[in-house]
Amino acid sequence: MKKERHKSGGSRKPVDPSRLRTTKEGLIIAHHGVSVEVLFSDGLRSMIGVKRRSGHVVGDRVQISSEVLDRLPRTTELRRRDARGTVHLVGANLDVLGVVTAMLPPALPGFTDRAIVAARAADLHPFVVVNKCDLAGSGGLVSSLQSAYAGSVPVFPLSAVAGNGLGPVLDFLKGRRGAFVGITGVGKSSLLNALCPGIDLRVGEIGGISNRGRHTTTVSTLHALASGGELIDTPGFQDFGLVDISAEELAAYFPGFEKTREVACRFSDCRHRTEPGCSVTGLVASGLVSKERYETYLELLTEVQAGEAEARQKEWKK
Ligand code: GDP
Ligand code: ZN
Repeated sequence: MKKERHKSGGSRKPVDPSRLRTTKEGLIIAHHGVSVEVLFSDGLRSMIGVKRRSGHVVGDRVQISSEVLDRLPRTTELRRRDARGTVHLVGANLDVLGVVTAMLPPALPGFTDRAIVAARAADLHPFVVVNKCDLAGSGGLVSSLQSAYAGSVPVFPLSAVAGNGLGPVLDFLKGRRGAFVGITGVGKSSLLNALCPGIDLRVGEIGGISNRGRHTTTVSTLHALASGGELIDTPGFQDFGLVDISAEELAAYFPGFEKTREVACRFSDCRHRTEPGCSVTGLVASGLVSKERYETYLELLTEVQAGEAEARQKEWKK
């Protein structure tokens, strides 16, 4: 467990030490870089100073006793790798992950598949949001995403700006804690504003070029939804590189291959490449899995297997 010394931080009132003599449990509901806001089970909130690289994130449960903040074990951890290879924690203690896409800007190849695979491997339920459905021509994107993903995960077409299609997402989020990922500009902040009226996130500024705006001071916040459930807003990012995903996990979690569970491949460790008696290549041949989806899988498989080979080499050199 990570330990942090207490410091009073932020613009709010410093913590009253007399309140901290007993052990209290709470939830980090906002992260401001060098301080976190903790909501305690008795409803009280405190700003508590933490080290800049404490590793604590919004959604972490913490325990405070004798002026020391301990992070409690996490139920889930979702990680990603950026283009330079650095690993980042996307979220902790999340139940669901919404992958947001839109006609504009167009999706980066493989982003949605990687996010779904990573979420499933981390024990989260992924779902796909098709935003900006008010834009003419969105119908084509909705049908192609539905044919790729609807058999695997829920797909919600909506418009954050027009406020259409929000009900089914709110229903899905009831009793769950979620976060949205997606490339900059797909409308994640607009969606949070639409789902949690009153939070007033600055549209177009999350993780952006601008040095103003609340996201330069508030790294992340947890928002309770009036209809039940919680959403965490996190800074945007472009790359969802897979972290520690094995070829076996990829073969099991790739969206669209669920049908293969009904008919097993001949080999239990089949990676669905060129193995004889493979049910996936059978489904591709009969058109039940599209060639395009299968090619995306093969690209991810090559990447994951290269990562596995590299890890094995490192082991050897030890
Ligand atoms: P983020 O970078 O993913 O957080 O995206 P933003 O929420 O900042 O939105 C990026 C741009 O897309 C802004 O200009 C929004 O007004 C626009 N936008 C967001 N949602 C919608 C939508 O449902 N329809 C349309 N037409 N534009 C949208
Ligand atoms: Zn196979």
